[in-house]
Amino acid sequence: MLDNFIEEQKIATKILKNAVRKNKVSHAYLLETNGYNKKNQFLLSFVKYLLCPNQYSNFNDCKNCYQCQNIEKDNFSELKHIYPDGLWIKKEQLLNLQKEFSETSIQSNKRIYIIHEAEKMNPSAANSILKFLEEPEDNIIAILVTDNIHQLLDTITSRCQIISLKKNNINNEKNAIERIKQEIQFTDELNSIEDKIILEKIAKIIEFIDYFEKNQLDILLYTKSKFHDFFVDKNDIILFFSIANLFYLEVLKYKSNQPIKIFLDYKKIIDNISNTNTIENLTHKIKIIIDAKDNVKYNINNNLLIDKLIIEMTGGV
Ligand SMILES: [Zn+2]
Repeated sequence: MLDNFIEEQKIATKILKNAVRKNKVSHAYLLETNGYNKKNQFLLSFVKYLLCPNQYSNFNDCKNCYQCQNIEKDNFSELKHIYPDGLWIKKEQLLNLQKEFSETSIQSNKRIYIIHEAEKMNPSAANSILKFLEEPEDNIIAILVTDNIHQLLDTITSRCQIISLKKNNINNEKNAIERIKQEIQFTDELNSIEDKIILEKIAKIIEFIDYFEKNQLDILLYTKSKFHDFFVDKNDIILFFSIANLFYLEVLKYKSNQPIKIFLDYKKIIDNISNTNTIENLTHKIKIIIDAKDNVKYNINNNLLIDKLIIEMTGGV
């Protein structure tokens, strides 16, 4: 939910919430991500906030409505994503989008398209998006996402409401990497991975845990998008279990009133999990993760490994 970002992205969150509450949602947003590691989660929360009928009354994560469920499954026909096709975003991709939007049945009163890495629009794509932006259709919202706003044409940026995300706290990140390397014996393969990639993996691991804690067995339906797309080889999977183990240990310490030392950027999630788990539950989960990590060396099928982990962690003490 958008409120999860109120501390880290105070300004952006307030602007977007106010716009929805006052019914002044813009036709086009340009989300300047500034390397923020939770940009995709932020974006998804914003989209749900725009489309979910429970947004005003439900302060917890809405899992019940048709919109939220299908957005989560990436199966909502009124939400379209455009990614670069090779090096560029091409005009045909935008024309196809227009065509699809004109043909689809309406599942909600608002329709949204998101252009990821918008700076990669080639000149003819940029021209056709300009037409979109100059003559906006009612209830269609464009969200352009970029990490390089200066590579976008001024004519495009000037027609969007710019929402700038705050950069990650570099000190928190450096601290996390250093402490993780102290805690986990890094193999040569892991040592050769760039810090930036490790930070992205950490974000994915904690997103997985956060989703699991809120939805329990339901995550079995999404192991592809929440796990297998990012954790493929043996090193990835060892990293997954090692970080998950450290993360739950940190929750356990937090529950025993010790300060957070490693995952400072994830205080809200740590706090939530600490509130919904007993000390026994947390210890139980840590034990299961350690056992699963031991099993990686036996080359058990990854699907089985992760499904078994989820089922055992749901089982309670
Ligand atoms: Zn909802």
